[in-house]
Amino acid sequence: MTRTLTNSLELEKAAALIRAGRLVAFPTETVYGLGANALDAAAVRRIYEAKGRPATSPLIVHVASVPMARKVVSAWPTAAEKLASRYWPGPLTFVLPKAKRVPDIVTAGLGTVGVRMPAHPIALALIRKAGVPLAGPSANRFTELSPVTAEQVRRGLGSAVDLVLDGGLCRVGIESTVLSLAGPVPVLLRPGMVSREQIEALIGPVLLAGTVADGVAHAAPGQHSKHYSPRAPLRLGLPSQSAGTAYLWWAVERPAEFAIRMPNDPDRYGAMLYDTLHKADNSETREIVVEPVPFGSDWDGIRDRLARAAA
Ligand code: AMP
Ligand code: MG
Repeated sequence: MTRTLTNSLELEKAAALIRAGRLVAFPTETVYGLGANALDAAAVRRIYEAKGRPATSPLIVHVASVPMARKVVSAWPTAAEKLASRYWPGPLTFVLPKAKRVPDIVTAGLGTVGVRMPAHPIALALIRKAGVPLAGPSANRFTELSPVTAEQVRRGLGSAVDLVLDGGLCRVGIESTVLSLAGPVPVLLRPGMVSREQIEALIGPVLLAGTVADGVAHAAPGQHSKHYSPRAPLRLGLPSQSAGTAYLWWAVERPAEFAIRMPNDPDRYGAMLYDTLHKADNSETREIVVEPVPFGSDWDGIRDRLARAAA
């Protein structure tokens, strides 16, 4: 079967839908996003309805340039400038004090906003054509696995989304790193494929959310421990029996009904993870077992998602 990737006519239609306050699912390099005009509170409300997402979970605003980012924040510190010039467009989100024009529903009432420039030509073209920043959480029902193909978006959200732009399989494959630059010290709120080490090399020490004293850490709502989960229960370890077991391994192979070999490299592992979990999570699967991944900051994002999928 041939896949029809997004063409310019479809992009025009998508941009018109965004301007009309509707929802468009779009590919990014991390996962597919469920996009709405971030400056239109009624449009953003539709995102929460379509996802069944609690209103306490803030959304990331997607922009097509640094000047556009600066219009949704009220401060743009040197650390943001340095990191953006190295990692934007890319899988790194900044949490910064928000500009007044960003509706409260986008930020779950917080005084800060998450902002990121995605590295995907379709996402960037959509934002530019619509002429507005896009609020865009992952295009899945709340707590479910994030989609990394257009087909997974359609299966998960159905008619709740007005249009799905198809950009093929996402290249990075897990959600962005989220870094708060809103307080006196940078705080890593969610690990991802831009690692803590890479960030510290540019801006110095970064604290980890949850490890800092009260009053220093920025509140990080939306960091529910159960998140990013397949339907079948997921366990970290080695498989015990084979019936209905899908086993994702990278070092230690064991007999299992579906033994799926994963790459021994964090970038390639991340790129395969959700697609593999979507495939492993079929009606015959009773349990998904994942071999624990290596230590090291380049695996932090993957380890975080696996821990939450197993919660
Ligand atoms: P998702 O859109 O599903 O990738 O999730 C977005 C994540 O970004 C949330 O779970 C939060 O952890 C984080 N986030 C977005 N905006 C903010 C904010 N203003 N303050 C703190 N965290 C945020
Ligand atoms: Mg999500």
